[in-house]
Amino acid sequence: MEKIHNCVIIGSGPAGYSSAIYAARAGLYPILFSGFQPGGQLTTTSMIDNYLGFPKGISGNDFMDNCRKQAKRFNTKIINKSVTKVSFSTEKKGIHYIFLNKESIIKSIGVIIATGSSPKFLGIDNEKRLIGLGISFCATCDGFFHRNKDIAVVGGGDSALEEANYLSNICRKVYLLVRKDYLRASKILQNRIFSKKNIYILYNSNVIEIIGNDFLESIKILNNKNKTKNIISISGLFIAIGHIPNTSIFKNELELNKNGYIITKKGRTMTNKPGIFAAGDVQDYIYRQAITSAGSGCMAALDLERYLSS
Ligand SMILES: Cc1cc2nc3c(=O)[nH]c(=O)nc-3n(C[C@H](O)[C@H](O)[C@H](O)COP(=O)(O)OP(=O)(O)OC[C@H]3O[C@@H](n4cnc5c(N)ncnc54)[C@H](O)[C@@H]3O)c2cc1C
Repeated sequence: MEKIHNCVIIGSGPAGYSSAIYAARAGLYPILFSGFQPGGQLTTTSMIDNYLGFPKGISGNDFMDNCRKQAKRFNTKIINKSVTKVSFSTEKKGIHYIFLNKESIIKSIGVIIATGSSPKFLGIDNEKRLIGLGISFCATCDGFFHRNKDIAVVGGGDSALEEANYLSNICRKVYLLVRKDYLRASKILQNRIFSKKNIYILYNSNVIEIIGNDFLESIKILNNKNKTKNIISISGLFIAIGHIPNTSIFKNELELNKNGYIITKKGRTMTNKPGIFAAGDVQDYIYRQAITSAGSGCMAALDLERYLSS
């Protein structure tokens, strides 16, 4: 008879590995699918300086490699494949189906979704090459590296203004580069930004070139109204034009919010289907940190363990 598992984990970022460690130690014999980006988003950054327990910081790849090894130490079965489709039961302790391709189907009573999200890119040269070398998608992660320096934030929504506000307390000058001639963010945030003396809002501005060899040195901006071009010297460019949660395969299976994030019960990891839990950035559009993802991965494994033994 084909085996029915207790715990399948989809995703190999901090949320996935943290849930694997807790689930394995609870005797749930987890199977974890790594997906298109083994190790998750942190594998694209050179240095993590804000994760607890690493006084000298640690490279993103080393950190995620440690997480993988720790999950393996407790016999997590790690499979380097992507889940292509799911079919979730609506019944308590029902069997959920996880498809890798047409022939390969895994059955499990519990599933932890930790598929994360992907930041939106500007799509211009040097952007990916200089990630962690001046290009950033996270002010709380990288702002400290730019203390008393000049930086720019791209975007006009809530996230961009939150990033600009945070950075204005650390950096000397903050340029806020807005494509349109208005801000989309809430009025409260806008007022906070307008009151900051070191934030300079440049409307109608598109970044058209990222300049730098080993590190970011400057950017070229095109004013899309009067067509003038300008170069500004900055040490950091924070791209805050949004994230895309990796939830396309769950669209018809789970309740998602208007931006595609999985909705979980307040303060918990349960989704709207029994036995399906979500952890990390796939359900968190507010904090988006490695440590909060790992924390919610732990919560998901504990929630699943209680579900199975209830
Ligand atoms: C450049 C950069 C630098 C950052 N620096 C920091 C930092 O210094 N400190 C910090 O706290 N945070 C940082 N962050 C944020 C941090 O990376 C995220 O908050 C964290 O990685 C989220 O973890 P996660 O486990 O939820 O998802 P992710 O890390 O996004 O991992 C998602 C996983 O799901 C897998 N997956 C997706 N779809 C499927 C599928 N269909 N089947 C199987 N697997 C699938 C992917 O392959 C991946 O392994 C940074 C982010 C970026 C982009």
